[in-house]
Amino acid sequence: MSWKQTLNEYKNQDNDLMEMRLQICNDCPIAIQTAEYGPICDSRQYINENDEVSHKWAPGFKKGCGCYVKFKAANKDKHCVIDKW
Ligand code: SF4
Repeated sequence: MSWKQTLNEYKNQDNDLMEMRLQICNDCPIAIQTAEYGPICDSRQYINENDEVSHKWAPGFKKGCGCYVKFKAANKDKHCVIDKW
């Protein structure tokens, strides 16, 4: 396999990873949808691992990161605030 094939395969894997992550964010109750950039992880809300949402901190809840997740999801070193991905 040439380096170019290897690189393309690597890119495709990353695209698959990004799409999978974006789908999870699209279904997340604290995601705000934007027409231009897709979902934003709402930093005004808190969420726990059961997808329960709160407007203030409580045990087990984590604050949304405020990221445009399209960009965050493309970086394989980044993670969802509540480890959904
Ligand atoms: S990063 Fe996690 S908490 Fe934020 S919108 Fe995506 S799935 Fe929800």
